[in-house]
Amino acid sequence: MKSAAKALKKSAWVFPFFSGSCNNCNIEILDCLTPRFDLERFGVLLVGNARHADAILVAGVLNKKGVPRLKRIYQQVPKPCLVIAVGACALSQGIFSGSYAISELPVDRVVPVDIYIPGCPPKPEAIMAGLLKALENSGTKVPRTVRKK
Ligand code: SF4
Repeated sequence: MKSAAKALKKSAWVFPFFSGSCNNCNIEILDCLTPRFDLERFGVLLVGNARHADAILVAGVLNKKGVPRLKRIYQQVPKPCLVIAVGACALSQGIFSGSYAISELPVDRVVPVDIYIPGCPPKPEAIMAGLLKALENSGTKVPRTVRKK
C-alpha cells in the first residue's frame, strides 16, 4: 500500500509507535536522537501526540492488541502523513512470527507503509537514511548539514 503523502514541506514531527518486540529497534531509534547522530539537525522531532505528527515510525511486531491501536493512531495523524516501518519485526514479524500473541496482519496490511527499513535491528544510520528518504520523497526540504569534526 502507498499513502499519498506529498505535502510535507516543513520540519517533520514523528510519532513513534512501539508494539510488542524485543525493544532493540526502539533503542536504535532513540540512538538517532543522541548527540552522536543528532537527528534533530534535519528538522525531525519526535513527538508524544499523534495529532501533532507528520509521520509514524512503527517498530516491533504487531500483537493482537496493537492492531486497533495502530489503526486509531493512524486515524489521529493529520493527512497526508508518512508511515515508516523499522526493523524485521515491523516488516515481516521477524523472530516472533507464529507466536500465539502476534496478529496475523503485518504492519502494511493495517496501515499504508511508505518506507521499509530492514534489519534486526537496523543501525541508526539506516533508520536516518530511510526516514530522510521518505521525507524527501514527500516533498520536504531536508537541510543537508555537515558537522565539523
Ligand atoms: S527487528 Fe530484531 S531488534 Fe527489532 S524488535 Fe524485532 S527482534 Fe528486536
